[in-house]
Amino acid sequence: MKMINVILPLALPGTLTYSVPDTLCRAVTIGVRVLVPLGRSKTYVALVVGECREEPGFKLRDITAVLDSSPVATRLQLRLWEWVADYYMSSPGDVYVAAMPSGLKGEDNYRPKTERCVALAEALGSEASLHAALNILTASRARQQKAMFECFLRLSRWDTAFDDSLPSAVTGVTVEELTNESHCPTTILNALVRRGFLRIYEREVGRLNSRQPPHPENLKTLSEAQQRAHDDVVRSFAGKDVVLLHGVTSSGKTEIYMHLIARTLSEGKQVLYLLPEIALTVQMTRRLQRVFGSRLGIYHSKYSDAERVEIWQKQLSDEPYDVILGARSAVFLPFRNLGLVIVDEEHETSFKQQEPAPRYHARSVAIMLAHMCGAKVLLGTATPSAETYYNARSGKYGLVSLTTRHEGLELPEIEVVDIKDLHRRRMMNGPFSPRLLEAMRDALCDGHQVILFQNRRGFAPMIECQDCGWVPKCRNCDVSLTLHKTMNYLSCHYCGGAYTVPVACPACGSRALRSYGYGTENIEDRVREMFPESRVARMDLDTTRTRNAYDRIISDFSSGRTNVLVGTQMISKGLDFDNVSVVGILNADTMLNYPDFRAYEHAFMMMAQVSGRAGRKRKRGLVVLQTKNPGLPVIGQVAHNDYEKFYSELLGERRAFCYPPYFRLIYVFLRHGKEPVVEGAASEFAASLRRVFASRVLGPDKPSVAKVNLKHIRKIVIKLENGIDLAAVRAELRAVYEHITKNIYKTVEVFFDVDPL
Ligand code: ADP
Ligand code: ZN
Ligand code: ZN
Repeated sequence: MKMINVILPLALPGTLTYSVPDTLCRAVTIGVRVLVPLGRSKTYVALVVGECREEPGFKLRDITAVLDSSPVATRLQLRLWEWVADYYMSSPGDVYVAAMPSGLKGEDNYRPKTERCVALAEALGSEASLHAALNILTASRARQQKAMFECFLRLSRWDTAFDDSLPSAVTGVTVEELTNESHCPTTILNALVRRGFLRIYEREVGRLNSRQPPHPENLKTLSEAQQRAHDDVVRSFAGKDVVLLHGVTSSGKTEIYMHLIARTLSEGKQVLYLLPEIALTVQMTRRLQRVFGSRLGIYHSKYSDAERVEIWQKQLSDEPYDVILGARSAVFLPFRNLGLVIVDEEHETSFKQQEPAPRYHARSVAIMLAHMCGAKVLLGTATPSAETYYNARSGKYGLVSLTTRHEGLELPEIEVVDIKDLHRRRMMNGPFSPRLLEAMRDALCDGHQVILFQNRRGFAPMIECQDCGWVPKCRNCDVSLTLHKTMNYLSCHYCGGAYTVPVACPACGSRALRSYGYGTENIEDRVREMFPESRVARMDLDTTRTRNAYDRIISDFSSGRTNVLVGTQMISKGLDFDNVSVVGILNADTMLNYPDFRAYEHAFMMMAQVSGRAGRKRKRGLVVLQTKNPGLPVIGQVAHNDYEKFYSELLGERRAFCYPPYFRLIYVFLRHGKEPVVEGAASEFAASLRRVFASRVLGPDKPSVAKVNLKHIRKIVIKLENGIDLAAVRAELRAVYEHITKNIYKTVEVFFDVDPL
């Protein structure tokens, strides 16, 4: 009898074993999907991962069908997933769920899908008829219809189509985008269609990038410095599997990548190019498409499942994409002949998946993938992570530096402004120092652009009753609520809960409620007030909820339609703007005071990256860095672009206090609705761990936000010296986990975070 091991899309600790009836034997191979019964009446699509040779002591159940005539996952992929599940201490089922698009996990077979799109009715082809339509809608007081119609014009860029000075790029808008973005239901859309303003048509999805030929002649000629870096990378690859390209912002790293990609393709091999999700913009994809045409495929978790299934299947076919540009999850795609993996912006924390399991780091998985394929890895960044920098310095990775910007652009001048002193002298204008306001005024007068960085969204991070000190808190989480003024509500940034803004203090009845602190929304308001002629845009989570909003804000800014951009760390992500002469960092202290051992590292990177947006063409840019602690060494190091100093001090501290890269960390999180239960489980867990790992175990402690979504959280930290047998450590951890969650603490949710960020 043939027996097989399968993975199900469930968080089961291992694989399950089934028997294969004789009639299906020939169709079953590793990597095909089968239908299996589970429990009394459920059927699942499962993936065959291996053969089982030992008879178990009980009767196996039969699989009921085989879904594929050829494997949908390669053996190499299965090995990689197994490594991920083991290393990150998650179940094979969780990895399977994260790795495969759901269209391949469900029972439906994938069909090419069409989506419904909206276009302007044919009769409205001229600017005059558009105005007439808007007038009719205004006159008939169809408020929502008007709003939706205007929203359509904005999304499709019809509002600029008649302006000769702007590139006319009327783009397709889907019904879904329009209803999302306008906050109007489809009934409103139907009314607009009935009235002859809009029409709806079907468009096949997933046909992106179908028949554009590649244009290698569009590759830019590398400058001397870039060519040298390029050749150094190639030379390094002869001896190292992983190379770090440490190049300042705007040095032309992306151009070097493109040459390396072309070179790899000419050897008949594939390339995986990973970017943080947020940096995977239309601008970036166009830049690559111009050179690689339809040899390039794009894999993005925000794409529809149908599109992702299509790319997956193309990668299994005889004509796969040669280059995949993708975010984190693209490491799980099938490759047949991978030669090079590029991890751009390797320092970005979004490469680590936080929730749910598997909590993997795409950079580490990429290195493992490349290792299994015999491919090389290039890590690129202007601000390497401490781990990568250490590995490059110690010779484990190759290191290539590029210290000059393209065309000899200068790095910006960074001016530190002491806002503590200015506050004392009452010279601050809200969150703005006089120096920053002056610089903004000059820039805008000269027709230049300004970027303002504040790492808090919303209007104010907190409101407080001035009479009794009451502060509104989330009912479900242990945090105070953020005021969002435009939409007039209080929001919890941990569970997303929304609350009405109280008129009076519920504790004492006072009406003296005051808001504290400045979020991006507040900054935006103030800029509008102080610079009424400026065209301000805001980029944070609240303004970029849809797939296109982010691209739109960026293209508006780079085309000059807006000239002040206010935003959170989103604005630091490798954007290329030519006309930005001033960058304001409004408050460095919120980042530095964050209670985490990586706070300085992250703050340094963030400030260096944001500063890198200034002065990209012709003119040297200015960064105004506002802080209450101008004397901190890290501030000086940012101001002088002194990476060496920053990293050597950082690594010194990390070594002294036993943190990565000198020690490895594993966090154990425990969650439960009842505080005494989680408290008890956490102390027993820690006690059991101490019996094995002794003083390597710290805690349990309350994390800085100790309750989220009605669940109380405890955290245990395990510090492991380099060289320790990690496989043995994981086995011990699993044993303790089994033991603790067996009986009274069965309902406690326990998970591990390996190499946490
Ligand atoms: P990085 O990735 O290091 O931030 P980019 O590759 O984005 O830098 O380069 C910054 C800008 O300079 C881009 O607009 C790019 O097109 C341009 N650039 C860089 N190198 C060259 C080159 N060799 N020839 C022409 N333009 C270049
Ligand atoms: Zn009060
Ligand atoms: Zn909450």
